[in-house]
Amino acid sequence: MIWKKYGKSMMFMKNQENKIKVCVIGGGPAGMMAAITAAENGASVTLFEKNKSQKQMESERFFDNAYLGKKLLITGKGRCNVTNDCSLDEFMKNVPVGAKFMYASFSAFTPQDVMNFFENGGTPLKVERGNRVFPVSDKSIDILRVLKRKLFENNVKVINRKVCDVIVRDGVFCSVVAEGMGELFFDRCIVATGGASYPQTGSDGDGYRFSEKLGHTVKEIKPSLVPLVSHDKACRDMMGLSLKNVTLSVIDNKKNKVIFKEMGEMLFTHFGMSGPLVLSASSHMRDMEEGRYSVSIDLKPSLDEKTLDARLLSDFNKFINKNMDNAMAELLPSKMIVPFLNKCGIKKEQKPNSLTKQERRTILETLKNFRIDILGFRPVDEAIITSGGVSLKEISPSTMESKIVKNLYFAGEVVDVDAYTGGFNLQIAFSTARLAGINAAQYI
Ligand SMILES: Cc1cc2nc3c(=O)[nH]c(=O)nc-3n(C[C@H](O)[C@H](O)[C@H](O)COP(=O)(O)OP(=O)(O)OC[C@H]3O[C@@H](n4cnc5c(N)ncnc54)[C@H](O)[C@@H]3O)c2cc1C
Repeated sequence: MIWKKYGKSMMFMKNQENKIKVCVIGGGPAGMMAAITAAENGASVTLFEKNKSQKQMESERFFDNAYLGKKLLITGKGRCNVTNDCSLDEFMKNVPVGAKFMYASFSAFTPQDVMNFFENGGTPLKVERGNRVFPVSDKSIDILRVLKRKLFENNVKVINRKVCDVIVRDGVFCSVVAEGMGELFFDRCIVATGGASYPQTGSDGDGYRFSEKLGHTVKEIKPSLVPLVSHDKACRDMMGLSLKNVTLSVIDNKKNKVIFKEMGEMLFTHFGMSGPLVLSASSHMRDMEEGRYSVSIDLKPSLDEKTLDARLLSDFNKFINKNMDNAMAELLPSKMIVPFLNKCGIKKEQKPNSLTKQERRTILETLKNFRIDILGFRPVDEAIITSGGVSLKEISPSTMESKIVKNLYFAGEVVDVDAYTGGFNLQIAFSTARLAGINAAQYI
């Protein structure tokens, strides 16, 4: 690359291949999309991904053998909820951190654009409940295949090596140091190293370390979409029990306010609670501290209090000579009955006909409001999403270029944007990557 100075601004002159040389760090959805876009826009692109299979240890591979998108493959339980077929307004409501920042990139590459990208690439999609978009095949590999094919068609060079360092000279990106390859020079660099969750997939926070070293502020890393820890003995007693079609509400005890309410599926574990409903609920608990949040489970959301009371009377009448744990058998899963009665302060040996009116009222209220206090989150490596990351104040939202280091760009989860479940996080990865790829390939 030849440099020429024009006053204060730097001008790129075309290199021998007539192309800007872009390197992308990270072969996740953001890195792959950024690499494809930069190449489509005329750049010569090299994509570094640190994951490698044993065979690939010996040499770099190209296209089919490239080891990419390890996390992408496990998204949506292997089905990949690739985006959400929603409007800009709807998207903004689902991005609790960084919605305003996302405006430009979302507008540049909308969910419809993402859907066209994959469908035109040969993977038909379908829209499910809540506008969640999945491949018709229900296989995330079909999403990865499109990305890999486009990398190949656009001559992106894939190197399965870890980038150990990013080097900047005089405030301008200069080179990267890749494992076993030394210092390699490029004109532009896109950091798409992901967050810090599920580190076994390769995203273990390298991007945060590079960015801090280069002078960026990294907002505190916290787990989001993560299982919840509770010391309530009921959780341990019900370990392994999965509840379907219950309504879970989150109560902010400090504000005495319900901040989340949704119906779905959840699971009790040895540490507390997990499952889709709990993960979604966790992303609304923004100021986690002991005692701050409780959850309330409506175990019978389709029955109002009057109908439920009639049902209780009928069941207790039917099982009049049985113990309470038997009398509840048609109302609750067996694993839940004793912990439930403990919460109500009712002995399992008690007979239904000895219940006081107040005790029956307590059972009714507990069925509608099974309360569990939350102690905290499980660690970030168990989270679906990392909340926090490179500060948005230091990135241009219209180009994704660093405001601190020239020719350095960011894409995907490494930046301080995060969203609720529903395909919004992959949309963030694709939109930011598209914008970073377009701009990193531009001559100035
Ligand atoms: C279990 C699970 C299920 C999920 N399901 C969904 C879903 O259905 N829908 C949805 O929208 N979101 C989902 N997500 C979130 C989604 O996977 C992420 O938002 C998305 O993968 C972020 O993309 P990314 O490219 O920024 O980062 P990543 O996918 O984390 O990719 C980053 C890549 O960079 C590589 N890398 C890191 N450091 C280096 C380095 N130094 N050198 C070279 N390479 C490096 C990593 O190995 C990794 O491959 C899920 C997440 C998890 C954990």
